[in-house]
Amino acid sequence: MPSSSRIILDKAAMQNNWDFFREYFGDIQISAVVKGNAYGHGIETYVPLAEDCGVNHFAVFNSEEAYRVHDVAGPGTTIMVMGSMNEQDIAWAVNNEVEFFVFDNARLDVAIEEAKQVGKKAIVHIEAETGMYRTGFDLEEIPALIEKLKDNKEYIRFRGLCMHFAGAEHISNYVRLKQQKILFRKFVRAFRMAGIEPEQIHTCCSAASVRFPDMRYDMLRIGIMQYGFWPSPELMVEYMNAQGIELNGDVKSPLKRVIRWESNVMSVKHVPQGGFIGYGYSFFAGQDMQVAIVPVGYAHGFSRSLSNSGRVLIKGHRLSVVGVVNMNCVVVDVTEIEDGVKAGDEVVFIGEQGEREISVASFGEMTSQLNYELLTRLPMNIPRLISDTSAT
Ligand SMILES: *Cc1c(COP(=O)(O)O)cnc(C)c1O
Repeated sequence: MPSSSRIILDKAAMQNNWDFFREYFGDIQISAVVKGNAYGHGIETYVPLAEDCGVNHFAVFNSEEAYRVHDVAGPGTTIMVMGSMNEQDIAWAVNNEVEFFVFDNARLDVAIEEAKQVGKKAIVHIEAETGMYRTGFDLEEIPALIEKLKDNKEYIRFRGLCMHFAGAEHISNYVRLKQQKILFRKFVRAFRMAGIEPEQIHTCCSAASVRFPDMRYDMLRIGIMQYGFWPSPELMVEYMNAQGIELNGDVKSPLKRVIRWESNVMSVKHVPQGGFIGYGYSFFAGQDMQVAIVPVGYAHGFSRSLSNSGRVLIKGHRLSVVGVVNMNCVVVDVTEIEDGVKAGDEVVFIGEQGEREISVASFGEMTSQLNYELLTRLPMNIPRLISDTSAT
């Protein structure tokens, strides 16, 4: 299948990140959050690699993602659905021992019903509403919920009690998060007093895992950090400070970027002084120029907001996108490369080449997209490959 670009996952970087978590967080269980097509890395490629790194718990948003993880995961791997599912999905989940969040009575009733039908227990994580106002039971609903769980013991396995923080990556949310913590402890107490305990408690995404050691409980749900990114720059600074690492130009993140995104030059062209490049008048050639056409455009995840401002790497040079980003291609100014560029030369959008690197953050800053958004918008149909330097 001819493809205009490739995404390459660096297995050694993944291993580095998981080794770091084990050292930093200790023995605690970690669920690898692989929603959003594993943050753009590609579920089918990413999950088996993560298993090789010792990961055996994956969290997804919806059942479609759960099916995809289930198709590639080994035996003994746990799948947990945190969001959307319909009734058939719940039947499938119960049957396959896929765990799922229960955040309202409607879903709990379906879970009980399907468990009766299937003849197996539904394995559920009760989500507490602690002030994010997305999903979760209110504290006032807990007494009735406790009764229901007790009455349906043979259908419901109370696997987890959980919550999600409303923006743990920003210190500006501090007061809100603190209130969430206080409220969550009331949920924990309510269950404890009623003599019905979840097998595990989990509350932390990446940012909260770093910021709130007191909220780690039995499991962390780590998304963005496993791919080698901090949830926000301030969180990395906070980590460094807490570790007593002096911040200077040489400081290296303990996390390594897993993803690389590259393509090849499709064609090269001379532009005479006075010409306009691409659609309209947005780029004027003030001098004679050499440009390279690269067959990746906004249809392939290269944002249109990078028009006249994006950077790519070719032959170790950091070069500018000129003109507007087209649906299927961009034009790059290669005039400064003295020995020329030819069709087939490698182009890097995210990753290293020679001495240079384009990180997702610098890419994202130019588009003003978050790491999260930029990664998850990388189309599914770009092939995902693996680079395994540890094996050679
Ligand atoms: C996305 C998500 C996570 C992971 O968040 P990161 O910031 O990527 O670590 C954890 N828990 C829930 C409920 C989520 O939706």
